[in-house]
Amino acid sequence: MPGCGPPRLRATLRPAMRTFDLRSDTVTQPTPAMRAAMLAAAADDDAYGDDAAVVALEARVADLLGKPAALWLPTGTMANQIAIALHCPRASAIACVPGAHVRIHEDASAAALWGAQLMPIGGRFGFDVDALEALVAEEACGWPPVALVWLENTLGEAGGAVWPLVDRRACPTGVDPLHPIAEQARSLGKALHLDGARLWNAHVATGVPMAEWGRVADTVSVALSKGLGAPAGSVLCGPTDLILRARRLKHGLGGAMRQAPALLAAAGAHALDHHVARLADDHRRARQLAAAIADLPHWEVATPQTNLVLARVAPPLRRAEPLCAALRAAGIRCYPNIAREVRFALHLGIGDDDLATIIETIRSALGMDPTRFVEAAEGAPKATS
Ligand SMILES: *Cc1c(COP(=O)(O)O)cnc(C)c1O
Repeated sequence: MPGCGPPRLRATLRPAMRTFDLRSDTVTQPTPAMRAAMLAAAADDDAYGDDAAVVALEARVADLLGKPAALWLPTGTMANQIAIALHCPRASAIACVPGAHVRIHEDASAAALWGAQLMPIGGRFGFDVDALEALVAEEACGWPPVALVWLENTLGEAGGAVWPLVDRRACPTGVDPLHPIAEQARSLGKALHLDGARLWNAHVATGVPMAEWGRVADTVSVALSKGLGAPAGSVLCGPTDLILRARRLKHGLGGAMRQAPALLAAAGAHALDHHVARLADDHRRARQLAAAIADLPHWEVATPQTNLVLARVAPPLRRAEPLCAALRAAGIRCYPNIAREVRFALHLGIGDDDLATIIETIRSALGMDPTRFVEAAEGAPKATS
């Protein structure tokens, strides 16, 4: 009889629905090997700078990025906020793309903590030298002086698009590659920070070494907790004097987490050993998912460059939430990042078999007729005529 019997039997009769979390590449579980590395960590006090594994990880990432020094931090947000504190006097401006993580997703901390104003220039895929020049030209007229030029790579709000170093052909209109931008910023006497939470993805997608990207900015932050799959941790890299100041700011902000960084550094080192090259698998799966979604009448989707798939609802659909609700009910966790658009993130927790199931589930949950989602989106019955 259904519903009776021991739990194991019930599970066989009605298997629990498998769920797949595509909300972000932060949702990964530490792998068994990563957990083993964490358990084996010596775990000394990071607030005293005593933990050899944290010190070694900092040196390793500094070296990778071609910088003299580095600092492990609990989150990318703290790394970004410390970078602002290092570069920006109060009432100064930061030039960044409109969709920069630091502008949209960090709870107005640039303003609240440091009195810095984020000035958007360019578009989703970056900005050009002219836009930067125009912003700096306004400084004399009462606009806040630009203290920092902010780069992000890959660009999260652009679906993990790579902002190229030198290749102009890879840039849309209104975007220059990073080299001429950095050159312009330096000639104007401006500091540069690169928010490289997903810089590993840019590195793997292009084959350009991390240090080449690192060279474009004075300070660079990279995440160990996104595609690389550590439970937490980012590393801020830069000149020795700035990183010393950053260490004080970390204490001041309450980020000196005693023995915890030792465990998290063990996870980070494991991630660097085992989870960088495999990002290419995430990128391939993202292209496969995008192609499958593009076959459905519900979506318009561009070919992803890295691990994020941006799917925009196709007319007559106007809102992505009803489609997301149907997908969630079928076991696929996702949400609209803006009203008409969903971002699906591929990561360490999604293998080829999972992807095949996900694609099947999306097809069957949405069907081939988008009109029922038009009704849901409009909140009114469909006209019968
Ligand atoms: C996720 C992310 C951050 C913040 O990292 P947390 O560790 O979640 O605080 C900063 N910048 C970018 C581009 C990100 O994607």
